[in-house]
Amino acid sequence: GSLAACVAGVGPTLIIGSTGFIGLFVAEACIDSGRPTYILVRDGPMSPSKAATAKVLQDKGATIVHGTINDREFTEKLMREHKIEVVISAIGGDSILDQLHLIDAIKNVGTIKRFLPSEFGHDIDRADPVEPGLTMYNQKRKIRRYIEDEGIPYTYICCNSVAAWPYHDNTHPADVLPPLDHFQIYGDGSVKAYFVAGSDIGKFTIKTIDDDRTINKSVHFRPPTNLLSINEMASLWEGKIGRVLPRVTITENDLLDRAKEMRIPQSIVAAFTHDIFIKGCQINFCLDNPTDVDICSLYPEDHFRSLDECFDDFVKKIVDKNPKAVSMPASKNGIFVPKSDTEPLA
Ligand code: NDP
Repeated sequence: GSLAACVAGVGPTLIIGSTGFIGLFVAEACIDSGRPTYILVRDGPMSPSKAATAKVLQDKGATIVHGTINDREFTEKLMREHKIEVVISAIGGDSILDQLHLIDAIKNVGTIKRFLPSEFGHDIDRADPVEPGLTMYNQKRKIRRYIEDEGIPYTYICCNSVAAWPYHDNTHPADVLPPLDHFQIYGDGSVKAYFVAGSDIGKFTIKTIDDDRTINKSVHFRPPTNLLSINEMASLWEGKIGRVLPRVTITENDLLDRAKEMRIPQSIVAAFTHDIFIKGCQINFCLDNPTDVDICSLYPEDHFRSLDECFDDFVKKIVDKNPKAVSMPASKNGIFVPKSDTEPLA
């Protein structure tokens, strides 16, 4: 192998799902860390945005490999040929069980030093959402048990929520602006959760992959500065846009009704929203298992972006989208926010 591949900490890394929401953050951080980065991209028709994402990663230095993890022989060959040491999966919630084939391939190759399955949320052995969220967790649990039974070295990333407004029907909230018309507050709005910037999910995930302290551990992202209730988030956003918005209560029963509708993926998100903001699934347990690790204790010198900073990015997107806004009378913090609804930022 190359000299780089022999140096500890720069082992070739294979990322599955890098054209997805979480996978892109992870792939970018992997490339930035200087590791040889291989991204598996599925064949067949790709949306222009996914094709553009793959191109961006390639331009940054990733090597694109075409194929699917459902083809075990192909992934085995790929891992052997490129001397892959770390495999990170960020495949979507609808294809979690595809990872069974990937685990078989990892087992057969026998030289993979670390596998990170597609987790990137709650501690699925502790959280207990209603259906249809529970079905997804049961699939993720099945993947965990298979990895453990096969003796594959693993790290489970429990990064909690992505820093953005937590819409109860949106899988990828960081792609959507926080509200500009009214807030929907879950329950009494006092239950806290951790909101982590997508770029930090990527950055800190990559820090764990060659850290001996995270072998066969669940790594929890609990930066104290990123712990907020939805009431606190609403006030923070009002401060940014210089306006007070009406608040509408979404009750526990409203969320349960949305979950019962069984619309996929919206009902899955409603089930998780209920688990987070009514039941407190991110904060109702201590890290007291021998397999728990707190990311902040591992890297105390490293800074997590605050929600305040992330909200500044959203304000910038609003202003960038409507340059005229900046020449209009400024609000008390200097930012004029046009009256528009929650339009997706494609
Ligand atoms: P996306 O649906 O955005 O992306 C999934 C990616 O996986 C795509 O690149 C897709 O490729 C790829 N993929 C799926 N199946 C295969 C396969 N068989 N072979 C190769 N590639 C495949 O996923 P998300 O980012 O939404 O989800 C990733 C993980 O993050 C999940 O575990 C999810 O639960 C979690 N998550 C956590 C959030 C949080 O707030 N903490 C928010 C959102 C997700 P293709 O482009 O070809 O379809």
